[in-house]
Amino acid sequence: MYRSDKFTAFCQKYETEASCERAFYEAKWPDGFRCPRCNHTESYVTRSRRLPLYECKSCRHQSSVTAGTVLEGSRTSLRLWLRAIYLHAESYAITATRLSQVLGVTYKTAWLMGHKLRHALGTADASQPLSGLVRINTGLYIRTMIPGFRQKSEDQSLLVGASVNEEGDPLHIKIKRVSDEHRRFYSILPTGVRAFISENVAPGTSDLICITQPGSPDRIKPLVQIKIEACHWLKAGFWGGIGPKHLQAYLNQFCFNWNTKFRERAAFIELLRLSATMRTVIYPVLIGTRLATAPAFRPSRLRYNTLEQTG
Ligand SMILES: [Zn+2]
Repeated sequence: MYRSDKFTAFCQKYETEASCERAFYEAKWPDGFRCPRCNHTESYVTRSRRLPLYECKSCRHQSSVTAGTVLEGSRTSLRLWLRAIYLHAESYAITATRLSQVLGVTYKTAWLMGHKLRHALGTADASQPLSGLVRINTGLYIRTMIPGFRQKSEDQSLLVGASVNEEGDPLHIKIKRVSDEHRRFYSILPTGVRAFISENVAPGTSDLICITQPGSPDRIKPLVQIKIEACHWLKAGFWGGIGPKHLQAYLNQFCFNWNTKFRERAAFIELLRLSATMRTVIYPVLIGTRLATAPAFRPSRLRYNTLEQTG
């Protein structure tokens, strides 16, 4: 069982679904209700369902704290979701096995919750480019051979980037898996570097150093160390390592935890905000059997009569 006085206190604070619904409400609508269709700020609310339903007074659109968010379509309680968010925001990252034990849910449910949160982290990360002094270094993630399970090692190229201070200490990091089209053996092609910079570095950044030669004497040591930390975490937490399909998701989680270490409360608030404002991803997309652009859910056609007025 997971032992932490802070986690126990957190669970006691958010013991009821109503208290958790309030937390998601405030994360989704920090300035009060706002209709997702017409932006109106007043609603009727009915509380006869599992979750309160908010109906816009202007256009009659119906919404809830989970509609259009990471939690949409999930049958897992808000109480367990909030605990999962807390645990993913802690300064170390939790695995699906451990999450399933702590929450008392199946491994598949815990895996799906974790990946939905990681997907939100990845989406948010894309809008936070590196800026100022930017340093980039190559790295390699090696998934080792396991006799009887995997007969040969697999390696995947990484680019580790960071905004750094004048002393060269990383302030904000990103680690990205380099797709196979951008690598040749252990080397990353210029196209891979250009793609990384285009997607992860703010336009106009002039002080940028990128070392892509493996073992170069000019390698950026703090970034080498961060890559080692990430690989240790992947090795310790995930028996057999992580394959190419999901590696980026776990790297996003590692970077989020690294970037928010020493700021647990802020990390929780940020992950809660992302969970309450970003769209979900469904299982077929996560495992790669459906494109992310496919519609995930049909629009809700809920409509109820027992409405009470709210501000
Ligand atoms: Zn409306």
